[in-house]
Amino acid sequence: MNLILPEAGLNIKIPFGVEPFIEAIAGAVPGSREPLARYMAVCREVSRALSFIGRSGGKPDLAVLLERYPAFVTTAGYTVAEVTAKFGLPEKALQLLYPYWSYMGVPVSRMSFTIFAVMLYSYISKGAYIPRFTSHGLAAAMDARIRELGGETCYNTRVSKILVEGGRVVAVKTESGEQIKARAVVANLSPHLVYGRLVHPREAVPERAARLLNARRVGTSALVVYLGLDAPPEALNLDSYGYFIGPSMDTEQAYANFCRFEPPQMQAVICLNRANPECSPPGTTILSATSLAGPEAWREVRPEQYYDVKNYMAEAMVRQLADYLDATPGHTASPQQRKVGCLFSGPGSI
Ligand SMILES: Cc1cc2nc3c(=O)[nH]c(=O)nc-3n(C[C@H](O)[C@H](O)[C@H](O)COP(=O)(O)OP(=O)(O)OC[C@H]3O[C@@H](n4cnc5c(N)ncnc54)[C@H](O)[C@@H]3O)c2cc1C
Repeated sequence: MNLILPEAGLNIKIPFGVEPFIEAIAGAVPGSREPLARYMAVCREVSRALSFIGRSGGKPDLAVLLERYPAFVTTAGYTVAEVTAKFGLPEKALQLLYPYWSYMGVPVSRMSFTIFAVMLYSYISKGAYIPRFTSHGLAAAMDARIRELGGETCYNTRVSKILVEGGRVVAVKTESGEQIKARAVVANLSPHLVYGRLVHPREAVPERAARLLNARRVGTSALVVYLGLDAPPEALNLDSYGYFIGPSMDTEQAYANFCRFEPPQMQAVICLNRANPECSPPGTTILSATSLAGPEAWREVRPEQYYDVKNYMAEAMVRQLADYLDATPGHTASPQQRKVGCLFSGPGSI
């Protein structure tokens, strides 16, 4: 992953592998090696503690937990900001440590350290993988196996009701009116949709499910721009698989910005071709840029404004990306490289 933060004067590759990760940050920020090594050791212990809890079916032996994983017990219940502050890491090192916050979508002052530690450690220690035949290949393989085993799959088939009788699911009804009998329904959707709209009659919604639903706040959603570009990655200054881009790594500021539908302060950009060169025809690039939208952001948007808002945000994100890539040291503007600006701004060229 590349991190580009112009306000902080940072443009750096963040490698996978715990040692290379520490090395890269220590190289950029003198004095950070020792606290960072301690920090990553704590993240590893937290990760292992969760695996232990998982292996014990959620009922771990507390004596073992305390003895083997004291760092987990000590840090559980604290936020990322609270725990990280104890390590005395230089401010600039935090900017290199925090980019993965955007995968969780809450600022470090509110994010559970346990969750962050597990996420950071697994990304850094295990790296990331991309299916050779893309995510679609994965879904298509599952589909083929279901059919092979005598199952059936339907596409473009919206379920409008989950019918309940006598306290038991009996069928699902599709939008076209077809009714499919079922003794059980696995609805892999947001519980707000399942219990708020689909279960019929409404009185059949279990009280506990309704209570849980009402107790939850809607979380952050993603805003993704997918680009199919008619130029190869090397002509677009894209030499890395991933980029975290934004003026700075102030997660509070970025989160507040995500709640207002302003041009985003932070985006994560993926160039699939850099991990999977055959994902698109020669001479083309698949690029996706993801920013977040806090729940408050959508509250003010009326249905008729939906596409305008999305197009406005998409344009701002593409412009930010093009500017930052153009400004990347070592990539300054050969005529061919300049093409990134033209590609992004020219109507019809995306
Ligand atoms: C921008 C972004 C980047 C991500 N990057 C990664 C990554 O790099 N690695 C990773 O592991 N994960 C990543 N994820 C997360 C991953 O995509 C999700 O965890 C995964 O797709 C969840 O799969 P799912 O099948 O549970 O839900 P979904 O993929 O959301 O599937 C739910 C399906 O239900 C359908 N549906 C909804 N209502 C109805 C209805 N009434 N009737 C019938 N069908 C209905 C929807 O159309 C949808 O197809 C990313 C997610 C986002 C948004």
